[in-house]
Amino acid sequence: MGRVRVGVNGYGTIGKRVAWAIMKQPDMELVGVVKTRPSWEALSAVARGIKLYVPEGREKLFEEAGVRVAGTLQDLIQSVDVMVDATPAGVGASYAGIYRDAGVKAVFQGGERESVAEVSFNALYTYEAALGKASARVVSCNTTGILRVLYAFKKAGTVRSVRVTIVRRGADLKEVKKGPIEGLLLKPAKPPSHHAEDVRSVAGRDLDIVTYSIVAPTTLAHMHVMFVRFEGNVSKEDIVRAFEETPRIVLLKASIASSTAEVRELARDLGGRGDIYEVIVWPESLWVRGNEAGIAYMVHQEAIVVPENIDAIRAITGIVEDGARSIRLTDESLSIGRWLP
Ligand code: NAD
Repeated sequence: MGRVRVGVNGYGTIGKRVAWAIMKQPDMELVGVVKTRPSWEALSAVARGIKLYVPEGREKLFEEAGVRVAGTLQDLIQSVDVMVDATPAGVGASYAGIYRDAGVKAVFQGGERESVAEVSFNALYTYEAALGKASARVVSCNTTGILRVLYAFKKAGTVRSVRVTIVRRGADLKEVKKGPIEGLLLKPAKPPSHHAEDVRSVAGRDLDIVTYSIVAPTTLAHMHVMFVRFEGNVSKEDIVRAFEETPRIVLLKASIASSTAEVRELARDLGGRGDIYEVIVWPESLWVRGNEAGIAYMVHQEAIVVPENIDAIRAITGIVEDGARSIRLTDESLSIGRWLP
């Protein structure tokens, strides 16, 4: 197989970042993206030389706004091997049949129900299970963060139970109509939040996990506190080593930056756009006593699922059969893991 031809439906917070990441992969070609309206995001695609496709009947709207269109959604679907669907939560399901009927593979996002795709995806857990499948669902940003941190704990010992408190960003930067702008909101009031079931969809149905979710007035990032109980005692050194050895986790000393604001600003200072694809774990927050451990970490919601989408494309098309190799290729292309000197 030559380069995998990919289209992206929905060029918003996630879709645009996935599109840019596809452009950096040597084994993939971004054919184009679908926009429904000639918004500023459409202009940003044009500025980057990305071809715009629109749903049937919308061409005129773009023409009138002076935005050049390469074709319709159907034209794009006919020209690709994989569609990445990054339309708003729940909308992806309405496109699932269209991709399937066209014989095109599809990657969906975490806002969709589990049943939208054949497999729920995280590169560390379900790469092999996704090989050759027609569709995969990359689980949400919070779920991806939990899964990576849990993966490290599982390397250190046999995990019996997992408890997580999730402090979620209220909105993404561009979401001017979303809140809260004051107060912390317990959502849902009754645990577990949907993240627990989402983690199980990837890590296994028998995992004992409870999650609480609190929405906070911030756009910068999520912050979690996770407690795990192991079968037997586990040493702090073994846990730290497991974290160091797990891909897409960066240990950042709280003495350097302990707030989501400082970490996001540091990422911007280091160059590029400041997207943080890794989970940022604060080593000082690691607490261990006997068979219990706790840790705090941060998740940049706009970026963390981007490398997972890239790996999901490789898995369902089968162009790389080894998950670890795909992770290395993706991480190399996006400079993942290379943070501070
Ligand atoms: P978004 O609103 O930023 O982007 C969605 C894009 O789809 C927009 O460009 C919008 O114009 C377009 N769109 C709207 N209706 C459409 C339609 N009917 N057909 C085609 N395109 C349409 O949304 P987002 O935040 O990027 O979320 C996309 C998916 O990713 C959701 O499933 C969400 O749950 C998931 N996700 C979001 C985040 C996050 O923090 N924003 C993190 C992880 C996963």
